Amino acid sequence: MSPTFPPGQAAKPGRTIFALATAPGRAAIAILRLSGPGVAGALAALGAGGLKPREASLRTLKNPADKAALDQAMVLWLPGPASVTGEDCAELHLHGGHAVVDAVTQVLLRQGLWLAEPGEFTRRAFENGKLDLSQAEAVADLVDAETEGQRRQALAQLDGALAKRHAVWRTGLIEALAVLEAAVDFPDEDLPESVADEAAPTIARIAGELEAALADAARGERVRGGFRVALIGAPNAGKSSLLNTLAGRDAAIVTATPGTTRDVIEVPLNLVGFRIVLADTAGVRAAVDPIEAEGVRRARAWAENADLRLLVVDASARDQAWHEVASLTKEGDFCLLNKADLPRGTAAVAEAWAHGHGLTPLFLSLRTSAGVEAVKQALSAAVIDALSGADFPAATQERHRRDLTEARAHLVRALHALTKPAEVELAAEDVRLAARSLGRISGQVGAEDVLDRVFARFCIGK
Ligand code: GDP
Repeated sequence: MSPTFPPGQAAKPGRTIFALATAPGRAAIAILRLSGPGVAGALAALGAGGLKPREASLRTLKNPADKAALDQAMVLWLPGPASVTGEDCAELHLHGGHAVVDAVTQVLLRQGLWLAEPGEFTRRAFENGKLDLSQAEAVADLVDAETEGQRRQALAQLDGALAKRHAVWRTGLIEALAVLEAAVDFPDEDLPESVADEAAPTIARIAGELEAALADAARGERVRGGFRVALIGAPNAGKSSLLNTLAGRDAAIVTATPGTTRDVIEVPLNLVGFRIVLADTAGVRAAVDPIEAEGVRRARAWAENADLRLLVVDASARDQAWHEVASLTKEGDFCLLNKADLPRGTAAVAEAWAHGHGLTPLFLSLRTSAGVEAVKQALSAAVIDALSGADFPAATQERHRRDLTEARAHLVRALHALTKPAEVELAAEDVRLAARSLGRISGQVGAEDVLDRVFARFCIGK
């Protein structure tokens, strides 16, 4: 593993940074990436001279101390500003052994270069105007993408799909603001009323578009973080069996990891190209002791906040134990009538109840696998229906949604102020704040702590 500096120590513009861009460990090739004003000097010190910009050259890298050969490497010289960070950059494609990487690393450190912090390359790209903040976030999302849906969304965001949607709104608001400010500057003239007529429709239109975008915003976050499906049901209904069946085969991304509580087991799956987080909320039951109550509360909350709930019913049972948790379901959820291989017990009652409450009833047997395919298809259809959309989502992270919500609230206030000619100035201030909120998403309006949070998520070398 590459050593790292404590946060803040190396994040200094002007420093020349480097990092291993490939995964650490023995491999065919290891790529060291360099960026900053000292790159040309470092290459010269390594004996890699005569390089043409953006052309691969084979060079024997040497230790400047004794001219001993370190490795034969393919070297790329990528002078700024037409580089990924905007600075002078280089890539050293080394043989991927520990000793090779270590030897070159030691030379670079002795040349006064600094090991990069996580995200420092992308942060420099952002600070040099190569990417806006939402595009920088997309770089991290693309590296983290495990499913087709995540990959597609991150790539479109990197291409500026999110930034473009927000830029249209921000430009509209800045135009409306110019009109309002003109009115504030000439208070004696008879401007305010015509101003309201001119600016209000634009502000109202953008407020409406923000509202529609917010209604749809969960989609982007779900594509990125996972569509959340809760398995609920009485003990013994078959929840764990269903979880195993759905997670088994080729679908599981990783093995089960305990969720936030011992009462919720979260399993991420790849279903029809989308990330799904499936949770066995076995903890949803009447708490027997007070210590358990918190776990039960969390399991209930998980189920209630999920995008879809699968109510698993032991259709062979004579009792109506499923009814205890049925109140957690919502219209559009599924009622899975399991154990269809056994003689029917509560099946008809549960099926009628499901119909009456807008749930889709599906019979299955996890023992014989009958009906399992139909359940998967129904689940896939629900996921596609929820996560596909004509437009790129206006938010892919909570951070975006918060700022969009804030922008909309300011616009609603501005519209209210515009109904009173005396309050044009207040309206202008709210429109300005709305534009600021939008500007925060792209990083045009920056807060250092937001940047620190965004870039802390990256891996070293990105
Ligand atoms: P959970 O408590 O809801 O997680 O239920 P489990 O998945 O642990 O299943 C409880 C019991 O029911 C286990 O013994 C399973 O083997 C059994 N079971 C699950 N599904 C079926 C089924 O479709 N048919 C039959 N006959 N037994 C099943």
